[in-house]
Amino acid sequence: MELDSIECVSSTDGIDEDEIHHHNTHHPHPHHHHQFSTSKPYNGGSNNNAATAAANGINGIMGPTAIAPATSVHELLECPVCTNSMYPPIHQCQNGHTLCFTCKARVHNRCPTCRQELGDIRCLALEKVAESLELPCKYYNLGCPEIFPYYSKLKHETVCNYRPYNCPYAGSECSVVGDIPFLVSHLRDDHKVDMHSGSTFNHRYVKSNPREVENATWMLTVFHCFGQYFCLHFEAFQLGVAPVYMAFLRFMGDEAEARNYSYSLEVGANGRKLIWEGTPRSIRDSHRKVRDSHDGLIIQRNMALFFSGGDRKELKLRVTGRIWKEQQNSDAGVCIPNLCS
Ligand SMILES: [Zn+2]
Ligand SMILES: [Zn+2]
Ligand SMILES: [Zn+2]
Ligand SMILES: [Zn+2]
Repeated sequence: MELDSIECVSSTDGIDEDEIHHHNTHHPHPHHHHQFSTSKPYNGGSNNNAATAAANGINGIMGPTAIAPATSVHELLECPVCTNSMYPPIHQCQNGHTLCFTCKARVHNRCPTCRQELGDIRCLALEKVAESLELPCKYYNLGCPEIFPYYSKLKHETVCNYRPYNCPYAGSECSVVGDIPFLVSHLRDDHKVDMHSGSTFNHRYVKSNPREVENATWMLTVFHCFGQYFCLHFEAFQLGVAPVYMAFLRFMGDEAEARNYSYSLEVGANGRKLIWEGTPRSIRDSHRKVRDSHDGLIIQRNMALFFSGGDRKELKLRVTGRIWKEQQNSDAGVCIPNLCS
């Protein structure tokens, strides 16, 4: 159940809309060209870059010199069925035709090359070769410069800083992934999320029937400031048996970068006020995880209705807030002239 309306009273600090559009089309990680290496330079090294990338299934980064020598080890490791690189377990038929384990599961025990029965024969020599190769992280084309032996590579890719982000939209299972500029466009165009420039906000959340507090009552607004994007979530959910409202901020980027920012939220009326101050969570942490850890401004329903004023028939919460950047260096050691002798 969505909120009936959201009103932005004032939320600009001088950055205009054009800047958002500019940033949306800007790709933060231009394709770098790296020199990859294998632990043994099987093909002489000069084409390792392209051949390794091709072997790793990365598209779109090969230049005109990307044709690997005819007998490169990467070609040996190419599955003849799906043309992906083969990694252990690598299978072969009795005649020595190799294929990858994904394809093996699909070919009904017939060698796709010679139609002989496939059986269950591993090709250990080729497996050893595959394990010895160093390969670029699969997020190479998103800017990751790392190269690893195969198994370390798999481990790295689950935590790689360049791995795509999940769509931060809450309230539906959205499977879209991508980098931040892409997700910002996606939120605006596909989820019709409100976009605001500026580091301060003043929002009024209005709901005509606050008795219906379902877990699915939520609202998302995106803020653009300091060259970054932030997701302001507002939602109602059951906390134990008590219905509550919660507002919190997530940073569209990694956790390490999120720690450079702080934010405050305030809600109140009639001489009472609740204030929350915190560090935005990275959108690497799911919306649900942040909510369930109560890392934000939580407003009990009775308090929310009190803040709404009137006859308690309508929820009208004015949430104000601010995002700021923390000083990179602490002030310790800085000499304040009048205090130093
Ligand atoms: Zn295959
Ligand atoms: Zn065969
Ligand atoms: Zn990586
Ligand atoms: Zn989405």
